[in-house]
Amino acid sequence: MSQGRHRKFPFLTGLASGVAVSAVFIVLLAASATQESQEVSPVKARALDYYVPNTEDLKPDEMRVVACGTGMPTTRMSQAAACFLVELGNGDKFIFDIGSGSAERLSALQIPYDFLDKIFIGHLHGDHFGSLGELYIGGMLMGRHVPMRIWGPSGPVPELGTKYAVEKMREMFSWDIAGRLGMTDTRGFGLEVHEFDYKGVNQIVYEENGVTIRSWPAIHAIDGPVSFSLEWNGLKFVFSSDTYPNKWFIEYAQNADLAIHECFVAVPAIVNKMGFTPEAALMVGTQIHTAPEAFGKVMSTIKPRRAIAYHFFKDFDTTGDVYERIKKTYDGPLSLAEDFMVWNVTKDEIRERMAVVEEHTWSPPLASPAAPPDMADRVAEGEKLGWQLGYSDLIEGGKLDYRDVIEPIYQEASRILGREFAYPQKD
Ligand SMILES: [Zn+2]
Ligand SMILES: [Zn+2]
Repeated sequence: MSQGRHRKFPFLTGLASGVAVSAVFIVLLAASATQESQEVSPVKARALDYYVPNTEDLKPDEMRVVACGTGMPTTRMSQAAACFLVELGNGDKFIFDIGSGSAERLSALQIPYDFLDKIFIGHLHGDHFGSLGELYIGGMLMGRHVPMRIWGPSGPVPELGTKYAVEKMREMFSWDIAGRLGMTDTRGFGLEVHEFDYKGVNQIVYEENGVTIRSWPAIHAIDGPVSFSLEWNGLKFVFSSDTYPNKWFIEYAQNADLAIHECFVAVPAIVNKMGFTPEAALMVGTQIHTAPEAFGKVMSTIKPRRAIAYHFFKDFDTTGDVYERIKKTYDGPLSLAEDFMVWNVTKDEIRERMAVVEEHTWSPPLASPAAPPDMADRVAEGEKLGWQLGYSDLIEGGKLDYRDVIEPIYQEASRILGREFAYPQKD
């Protein structure tokens, strides 16, 4: 286990205000009172209060949500951009937004990639789908043997819709895919796009296996963005993606167990730390996005079991201001999200913890067996492109003859595995 920076208590990050600090003391006092009743021993293990991925079964009636990106379009090490993973006790998993940097957070959870095949995109800003390509290519190489399925809104014109964006992404990876054909199991390169009307109001966009996902319009930048709800087994998760406070969220996010809504950096920090002019900061921080005070007002209206604010950089010198501004208009249960915050939700309890993750992960276990590479894929793609995939004489002619050191690797594999691996011969 590594990543000390993820071991901190979420509320201890960046609290500058007296109000916030006193809230923390109450939490800590409550925690110490509980600890006193436990046996304290110099040699016995104590219970972890962190979530260690893949060490806990998900109960049949339980939902687990992991923040895999909580930040902003301006990329940074400590926070990826928007991404929330929802895992259900029926075995289904859903990704809501796949913002820049979030695919590496997902990889840290070591979930077999066949199970990470359903992605819902709220809008097509890079900080909400910028990691789609990484999940697409990387997920295929790490064991996804099924197509990736993407749900997202139409646009006011086809060029501004999800289908267009995903098709162009596939085109962007033309060389990448061509270069892998005939070398690996490429079933994971399949893509299914389910584009739905961005104007649909509380419309069902997904209904399978007892899970219903609905969308309604969001108000952000230009037409196109949407927010989502997911309902399953009497539990309700809602996710705003990005939006100015709007009437549809107030109506359709009612009765949410977890309500995740964007909450932008406070205007003074946009000016002081992002270098925006006051005019631009006021526009972006209050009109395009949801200001903290406005976030609080939304949550005071819908009264979720727990409100979750994301889409701000959570630092020691900015979080206190965001918290105080939210508290002006909301005093219910609140989480200020950061990456790897985890919520276990049942009808009885919402448990919030941080995940402690391994950074040095490789591929997770395969959920389905890999198929051997098929050269026919390569031939077929070559016919389509009018150029047989491989090396031209010029490029082939540049190869150095290193057979003396490479052939022994084949011999080593043959010896260890007890079957013959022939050194490739020239055509
Ligand atoms: Zn946006
Ligand atoms: Zn955003």
